[in-house]
Amino acid sequence: MPNATKSLIVSLHDTHPGSWKDISEQLDFLQNLGIGRCSILLVPAFHHEHGPCCWNEELCSALSARQDAGYDLVLHGYSHDRQGQTDTLKNLFWTRLYTNREAEFLDLPEAAAQSRIEEGLTLFKQHGWTPNGFIAPAWLMAPHLPALLHKMGFHYTNRLTELIPLDGRPSIPCQSLCYSTRAAWRRTASLAWNRHLFSRVRHNALMRLSLHPHDLHFETIRQQIAEILKTALHEGFQPTTYAEYAAR
Ligand SMILES: [Zn+2]
Repeated sequence: MPNATKSLIVSLHDTHPGSWKDISEQLDFLQNLGIGRCSILLVPAFHHEHGPCCWNEELCSALSARQDAGYDLVLHGYSHDRQGQTDTLKNLFWTRLYTNREAEFLDLPEAAAQSRIEEGLTLFKQHGWTPNGFIAPAWLMAPHLPALLHKMGFHYTNRLTELIPLDGRPSIPCQSLCYSTRAAWRRTASLAWNRHLFSRVRHNALMRLSLHPHDLHFETIRQQIAEILKTALHEGFQPTTYAEYAAR
């Protein structure tokens, strides 16, 4: 998997009918910077509100066109929430503080995980999309999940800190740049953290940047992301996708 080329993988999280306007603006923003491919993470029934029936023709054909152009469409959970699941003292940090009750696959038993993934895959099948990868909401997944994903035919998954090929090759340590915008203090901390993280990962062969639908709404964050991406491209990073990278 590693190679002489420096690779840049941008991933757009939480794509669903309700976020499509933001995602589509992010795709334009990236294109304007010269980034013509990335991984697009789809949530089939976001918060149980934007179910498969809401995936309209316009959105689906736009996504099919992206796939044809080399973009990677990724299954990103099913509902991206914890409806029907209990928070225990043990998982409280991850379910309430680190995320806002979005860690859908954190402790889902294997059979339930499999049936949600199968439901998600129906959306992909309906539209002829190839699901190469599965990425759990907030990158939080139960330890049995990678083996299940391999059995279900996926080629890769990842966590915030590593890329996991599912064919038995070792994981590739690589922390993604990622912003938290839920509160002003989180945005300020994110700017400092990502500036620091970029100064480290720009020396690596692989750089990852994960965007969430509201990230570009904040001017200081938008400016920093543009600046980081321009610098990375200038330093020779080539835009690619998780699917392409995992297939090398
Ligand atoms: Zn997500």
